[in-house]
Amino acid sequence: MTSAISRTWEHAVVTGGAGFVGSHLCAALLDAGAAVTCVDDFSTGRPENITALLDRPGFTLVQADVAEELPVHRPCDLVLHFASPASPADYLRLPLHTMETGSLGTRNALRLAQAAEARFVLASTSEVYGDPQQNPQDERYWGNVNPIGPRSVYDEAKRFGEALTTAHAQAHGTDTCIVRLFNTYGPRMRGHDGRAVPTFVRQALAGEPLTVTGDGRQTRSLCYVDDTVTGILAAAAHGMRGPVNIGNPGEITMLDLARLVVELTGSASEIRYIERPVDDPAVRCPDITLARDKLGWEPRVGAEEGLRRTIAWFRATSGN
Ligand code: NAD
Repeated sequence: MTSAISRTWEHAVVTGGAGFVGSHLCAALLDAGAAVTCVDDFSTGRPENITALLDRPGFTLVQADVAEELPVHRPCDLVLHFASPASPADYLRLPLHTMETGSLGTRNALRLAQAAEARFVLASTSEVYGDPQQNPQDERYWGNVNPIGPRSVYDEAKRFGEALTTAHAQAHGTDTCIVRLFNTYGPRMRGHDGRAVPTFVRQALAGEPLTVTGDGRQTRSLCYVDDTVTGILAAAAHGMRGPVNIGNPGEITMLDLARLVVELTGSASEIRYIERPVDDPAVRCPDITLARDKLGWEPRVGAEEGLRRTIAWFRATSGN
């Protein structure tokens, strides 16, 4: 496998840049020599995520709700629209904010890209596949989403965002790309954000029982954040419209994940089974043939290595 394609950017705007994935994206773009404007309202992101970036040349923070305004007034050649609550705990707590960010926020980000003649990348999600009837999922699969279930505020906002992005490209010739990210994990996740990896790591390090939902046989495919960021930037560089799946096809059951976290932390924690959330998908695994073929990209960090790095970060920061 050759290395993933890349490109140099002058000035990238990253909405949601103070979040988990967004902060890693900002850092990678700065490392590659781009100026970066991070636009974030800190609804789910944290100032600590970007503390180390604030002193770096070329980095600018703009605090704003992208559903209301996107106050960036200098030329840019890349807009990465990553603002959105992403963990179920967050979007269930912020249902209307999630839908407005996915609709009005996406519109505002598209307008910024159109006016600047910049490349636009939408952070979509494997959640557009809903509770999939096909496994693994390739980009041609239309999904199986309950439009009025509790998760729909996120799933349908992202599906609308994809439709709006596609319409913008058709109506205005905006240079757009849709990346469908599968579950990503790594340093800077919040221990209480409700997603499986930070929950298990936090619980294992605290010696508390690891709470596995249902019988734990539901699967996810977990991609380490550095791999996800490389995939996103490769899709941006390529010029493709997508959608393109960015994820790690290594599927793991939630029970095996919990056991692995216990082993890697050396914890004495037990496993406790709790109720499974409504509409929780049974399986989730990306077909990444398109990303492999077009972008020369595939994940490089295995689950054990990625979890070790994540656990080390939680130990060093207490997950803060
Ligand atoms: P996150 O919650 O850590 O980051 C989201 C960021 O967006 C936060 O900093 C938040 O404050 C900001 N934000 C939310 N609404 C905003 C608004 N209206 N205006 C300005 N800023 C706003 O989540 P994440 O895991 O980093 O996810 C980032 C993006 O990637 C999201 O769009 C998410 O849907 C997508 N995604 C993530 C994953 C994953 O596994 N992490 C998987 C699929 C898709």
